[in-house]
Amino acid sequence: MNQTIFNFSAGPAVLPHVVLEQVQAELLDWHGSGMSVMEMSHRGPEFMKIAAEAEQDIRDLLDIPANYKILFLQGGATLQFAMVPLNLLRGHGKASYVQTGIWSKKAIAEARRFTAVEIAASNEDRHASYVPMQADWQVSPDTAYVHITGNETIGGVEFDFIPDLGDIPLVSDASSHILSKPMDVSRFGLIYAGAQKNIGPAGLTLVIVRDDLIGHAPANTATMLDYAVYAKEESMHNTPPTFAIYVAGLVFKWLKQLGGLEKMAEINARKARLLYDAIDESRGFYANPVETRNRSRMNVPFTLADAAMDEAFLKGARSHGMIQLKGHRSVGGMRASIYNAMPEIGVQILADYLRDFARQHG
Ligand code: PLP
Repeated sequence: MNQTIFNFSAGPAVLPHVVLEQVQAELLDWHGSGMSVMEMSHRGPEFMKIAAEAEQDIRDLLDIPANYKILFLQGGATLQFAMVPLNLLRGHGKASYVQTGIWSKKAIAEARRFTAVEIAASNEDRHASYVPMQADWQVSPDTAYVHITGNETIGGVEFDFIPDLGDIPLVSDASSHILSKPMDVSRFGLIYAGAQKNIGPAGLTLVIVRDDLIGHAPANTATMLDYAVYAKEESMHNTPPTFAIYVAGLVFKWLKQLGGLEKMAEINARKARLLYDAIDESRGFYANPVETRNRSRMNVPFTLADAAMDEAFLKGARSHGMIQLKGHRSVGGMRASIYNAMPEIGVQILADYLRDFARQHG
């Protein structure tokens, strides 16, 4: 008997089942072309159409204004930790970062290779469990940009506001929450995301950047690290990650069909509530340390009061078809990632399991 599997991986993460079925159906022969998408020239008419549609669909979904470019890159979000300072310093002597967890720390460490970094705010005073309010930030007026990590995938800490910085460009690492709800792109200078959570397969990185921030990389910048090259050549200076772009395009169409990001946001709010309710109702059997307003809707980390039960918890979950619930190696405990493609029923089954396990072992 085939058991339904619910995969709570933090990334690469589960893709919508219907998208994978479509990929399977089209795998050997895309729309009668006689080719798999993997076998197409990236400059041929078939792939050009796939890429153009993907770009238009994400522009529609996020309502991206005309003065923003959408770039398809490689190198993951990690390469953006370097490309952002390289391209956006524009002669400024410093950049500002809000430190909210492990991913923002990595972005900060990489930026320090290029410039002085000002920590505008940090949540380390309370074990990285909240997002500092903007009133408590310290941003120098001459900084090049302010960088935030919109959702900390490991700590499960998500911004509940978009900071207002006047003319200073706001940059967000949106890797683990992009497309989970509507986002006012016009409030940002640049948004980047590795694809492998809410967009599609690993290997593709998305950058959404305002026109006026393109073209400021130093003259000796490597060609492939300059946003201007991607903007000018429509992300086709070299061979792009064609298959990943194709699958991402199908994910965008799936989201549109579902009713867009407003609808997705409603579903995601319901899913997150199911899990946080189960955790909070357990009277300390499970705990999530994040301040309520900043609890991530995408990544729900939690610990068992008695860590000696972790193995039994994971084993029981596996036997019910729930996999990849083990927490990040740096923090331990559990983490349930419930990205767009995780169906509500999967989260309901996990919430029921949390209650049953606590009843049996509490
Ligand atoms: N930023 C965030 C918030 C992430 O969750 C991740 C990966 O999980 C990264 C950056 C690094 O992404 P990549 O592996 O695409 O370089």
